[in-house]
Amino acid sequence: MAVELVVRAMKPGFEQFPVIVVGSGFFGATIAHLVAVELDVPVLVLERREHGGGNSFSEIDPETGIEFHRYGSHLFHTSNAKVWEFVNRFSAFNNYRHRVFTFHDNRMFTMPINLMTINRFFGKSFKPAEAAAFLAEKAAAEGIAAPTNLEEKAISQIGRDLYAAFVRDYTAKQWETDPKELPASIISRLPVRFSYDDFYFSDRYEGLPVDGYGKIFQRMLNHPRIHVELGVDFFAARAALAPSALIIYTGPVDRYFEYRHGALGWRTLDFELERPAVSDYQGAAVVNYPELQFKHTRIHEFKHLHPERAQNPKQTLIMREYSRFASGNDEPYYPIGRTEDRQRYELYREMAEAEPSVVFGGRLGTYRYLDMHQAISAAMKSFETEIAPRLRRDGE
Ligand code: FAD
Ligand code: UDP
Repeated sequence: MAVELVVRAMKPGFEQFPVIVVGSGFFGATIAHLVAVELDVPVLVLERREHGGGNSFSEIDPETGIEFHRYGSHLFHTSNAKVWEFVNRFSAFNNYRHRVFTFHDNRMFTMPINLMTINRFFGKSFKPAEAAAFLAEKAAAEGIAAPTNLEEKAISQIGRDLYAAFVRDYTAKQWETDPKELPASIISRLPVRFSYDDFYFSDRYEGLPVDGYGKIFQRMLNHPRIHVELGVDFFAARAALAPSALIIYTGPVDRYFEYRHGALGWRTLDFELERPAVSDYQGAAVVNYPELQFKHTRIHEFKHLHPERAQNPKQTLIMREYSRFASGNDEPYYPIGRTEDRQRYELYREMAEAEPSVVFGGRLGTYRYLDMHQAISAAMKSFETEIAPRLRRDGE
């Protein structure tokens, strides 16, 4: 669903805007919306890409009629009632709940690791407490008292066999970084369950926007006080902006400071689309490929995200996802967060705090592995604590 962002007939000069939002992902779009609606202040949104919505953008594939997420499946889930109420202003959500399957040793397993995964893998029929005791014994044998990195954290939860089958090589493909160098928080995103609960998330609210993410962004940004310029890089437009403008910057923080302390580590992704002539390719929205014999990490099949829609019966749309280190002009998608990155980011964070009239936000601006609901929640907080007070003061 292409975002038909409204380019207004009257196109005022950039210098007339007191607020500039750099980037139209969930962080930037939330700020722009709140500034316009709650403060009635004009906002200019500058977006480098030819579409709005950042990495959450989706559109309809003209050939199959299937909505696809251009940057991989984006599942909306949150336990934050304020965030859920906010996104529901822009679209109703369906009742899709995400399940992921993983292909190991020519067999399918449930992911995240649950009682089904454990029983299938070890050829057992454990009850929950038996499975927990079985894995606890394996984990205890490793003698990891206080895990400090991804590998230790995973092994201390599931033991070495399950780690080797489902985590080690997937993580190697996703990050190409020694898992001892990766923060434990990356693997803490996934639960380990001793029940047959096979949902990927455990949040109170979950679903996909029935009108698509494209419409959400269109509705967030379609306001008389908001002007969106697509295909414009902030650094190219900077000279034309009012020197007194408040800037909300959601691009990469290291780029803003011209890599003064060196480049932060990011992973980028390559996506490969295919349109098999079958109604259902893999039976689920996402299947992971943890083995090194496959170069991709996962395959997305988007029609499963919208069971409420009448879908193309003859064709489907799948997307293979490949991960590699970002360099040059690659899009940065995942902050790697090795020790050296975190130390470097700390230097950038200090510089960001000292930068007058610029608020740094979002996944790229704060070098944080934020999900959509977290980007929205962080934007709401930033609006309430920094942006609104400052604009109210300026307006007095
Ligand atoms: P972004 O969406 O990255 O937006 C930043 C925008 O700034 C971009 O559009 C960029 O073009 C623009 N920009 C950057 N520099 C400049 C510049 N100099 N001038 C102008 N514009 C600029 N989250 C979930 O909740 N569920 C999921 O299932 C999920 N899956 C994901 C899968 C993948 C593969 C990835 C990469 C992310 C996933 N996420 C998911 C995370 C989600 O994409 C982010 O939470 C969300 O996009 C963050 O919004 P943001 O505004 O911080 O950044
Ligand atoms: N992970 C794994 N095997 C899987 C799925 C995930 O080892 O089958 C690990 C991997 O290190 C990954 C992390 O768990 O980077 C977080 O997974 P998640 O699905 O949350 O990642 P995202 O959807 O953000 O790429």
